[in-house]
Amino acid sequence: MSGRIAAIWQPAYIGLGSNLEEPRAQILRACHGLDALASTRVVRVSPLYRSKPLGPVPQPDFINAVAGVLTQLDPRTLLDGLQALESALGRPAVRERWGPRIIDLDLLVHGRERREEPGLTLPHRGIVERNFVLYPLADLAPDLDVPGLGRVAELRGRVTSEGLERLGEP
Ligand code: ADP
Ligand code: MG
Repeated sequence: MSGRIAAIWQPAYIGLGSNLEEPRAQILRACHGLDALASTRVVRVSPLYRSKPLGPVPQPDFINAVAGVLTQLDPRTLLDGLQALESALGRPAVRERWGPRIIDLDLLVHGRERREEPGLTLPHRGIVERNFVLYPLADLAPDLDVPGLGRVAELRGRVTSEGLERLGEP
């Protein structure tokens, strides 16, 4: 992978979701793929959760998890890596909004970064309202201070667990 590599290892959190073609297997494949990214190591993966799909499209339930990584990649380069991994796992380049997906990899948090750029918002804008992000993230890092948003355990306390089922270790 090309891109800038800093000498500093930053903690980052990746949200994983799948609802097609054996979602659990897709999540595990994606975790292996994350660990294989240049200058990036998976430290811990949350338990798996089952969640109800958002939006108007009828589709199977999702399996979700969050991976905690350490990375030397800057946010852009890491996002490039996530998108390359999505493609490698079979996610088509053109995708339906709210539609089913083999794999979705979202860069939730990267160190203390706050960005609002075309194609990259940090922290990820879905965090505060998505229970399928906040519950697994709180399993890994309840005391994490999400830049600009607050402590994960507190954010989780503001969303219901409705439609979310904890399945256990991956
Ligand atoms: P969603 O993840 O909202 O279901 P997509 O994965 O299809 O939908 O959305 C991907 C788009 O979101 C990409 O164009 C990507 O550049 C953009 N994006 C902005 N910020 C982030 C982020 N922090 N992590 C992942 N994708 C992001
Ligand atoms: Mg995404």
